[in-house]
Amino acid sequence: MAYEAIIGMEVHAQIITASKMFCPCAADTAAPPNTHVCPVCLGLPGSLPVINEAAVQATILTGLALHCEVPSCSKFDRKNYHYPDLPKGYQISQYDLPLCVNGWLDIPDGAGSKRIRIRRVHLEEDTGRLLHEGRHSLIDYNRAGIPLMEIVTEADLRSADDAWYYLTQLRTILRYLGVSTGNMEEGAMRCEANVSLRPVGSAEFGVKVEIKNLNSFRAVRQAIAYEIERQTALLERGERIRQITVGWDEDRHCTVFQRSKEYAEDYRYFPEPDLPPLFFAPAIIDELRQRLPELPEEKAGRFAQEYGIRREDVALLVAERDVADYFEAVLQAAPLLSPQTVANWILGELFRLLSEEGIAMADIRVQPEALAGLLKLVNEGVINLGSAKEVFAEMFRTGETADVIIERRGLRQISGEEQLATIVAQALAQNPQAVQDYLAGKDAALGFLMGQVMKATRGQANPQVARQLLQEELERRRTTHS
Ligand code: ADP
Ligand code: MG
Ligand code: ZN
Repeated sequence: MAYEAIIGMEVHAQIITASKMFCPCAADTAAPPNTHVCPVCLGLPGSLPVINEAAVQATILTGLALHCEVPSCSKFDRKNYHYPDLPKGYQISQYDLPLCVNGWLDIPDGAGSKRIRIRRVHLEEDTGRLLHEGRHSLIDYNRAGIPLMEIVTEADLRSADDAWYYLTQLRTILRYLGVSTGNMEEGAMRCEANVSLRPVGSAEFGVKVEIKNLNSFRAVRQAIAYEIERQTALLERGERIRQITVGWDEDRHCTVFQRSKEYAEDYRYFPEPDLPPLFFAPAIIDELRQRLPELPEEKAGRFAQEYGIRREDVALLVAERDVADYFEAVLQAAPLLSPQTVANWILGELFRLLSEEGIAMADIRVQPEALAGLLKLVNEGVINLGSAKEVFAEMFRTGETADVIIERRGLRQISGEEQLATIVAQALAQNPQAVQDYLAGKDAALGFLMGQVMKATRGQANPQVARQLLQEELERRRTTHS
């Protein structure tokens, strides 16, 4: 029997704010352990939480970007459980009245796209961080109380690739909004995947398995693929799927049983008595909606329309807001450049250098105006393309402008016909065999002679002019020979 995978995702994203969710401690996970703690985030008796407004706004912004409704009323609830990373014995979260509900996010699907419904986006606080070292466990409460949003989809994903696309698009949106770094490797974005199978054609969902411990995009893809295979094998043997939680084991490349979920955990949720409910007037939501930046999808549509660049390239340009902004800044500085040429330079030379040197777009030393300047020099024939790439690499390393580097290295292209004519004549005189070959009809000899001219000029000859002169000179010899 053929089975279809059904997948729903729960994503937690740390919100970038100055202070924690319910206290004035700095939200700083990089600080030495337990340096940003206070009675509130340590859960000491008698302390009272205060809501961080910036975190509420960031969550609503995210919901709006995901096309969610923002109900006029929301509240916080206590989720009760006991664990060393949770000093209060409960987590302040949201249960039945989350900040945002009923949204969607489109992901690529073949040539088109498919809509993934977002069930809810709610706000809660992060737990402390446990470090297991040999026989000891250490706790860092700097993370306890950092604002965390949870984004839950309906079970609309159908494959490991879908899940990967969903996460990628979601992270792009979080980064565009500036609400989270979305960095999975650093734990700023964490996700759980719920996976079940059903016979193709069946309308009901099967029993789901929840996968935890997914610390990278690659892990998400591999773990889901593994889980689909594991469940398929069980069903084919006629066994039933148990409702369990598994963890992805990165080293052994398999999912590992963690606990049974057949008896629902009872978190004894109840409204947080120390916090007031939240009411949102429509004007407040409208004001937040005004703050939404141009989002990746819109930007992609505009780039394709306005600049007429290739579809694949548009997707790469808008994947990071920094890159899209850079692209537009280059064009702004030199509006006559071809947008596709600018895109090619950014996606080709610039991306190659960034990955070779392990530098982030944000830290790049070449200002957009400087790249525009270089490309103008290429267009004006001041330097040829080969030199331009060398110059760019040096701009990238030193932060200097193209002019400075071209002057210092004497890379100005030789376009003067007189100067080139002398070099062409020399090349012909020194390579009589190639001349004969060309006259005998071997066109490849022209390439060889061009190579000689380029060598003699250390690559600085204007190739169009040089080729023209070579051809003219050779043709002249053909007529004088015959
Ligand atoms: P739980 O109470 O175990 O957290 P929820 O019903 O809240 O389960 O759903 C959590 C996530 O699991 C959601 O993203 C949801 O879409 C997804 N999900 C629910 N049922 C299934 C299923 N049968 N197969 C795959 N995913 C599912
Ligand atoms: Mg769950
Ligand atoms: Zn605190």
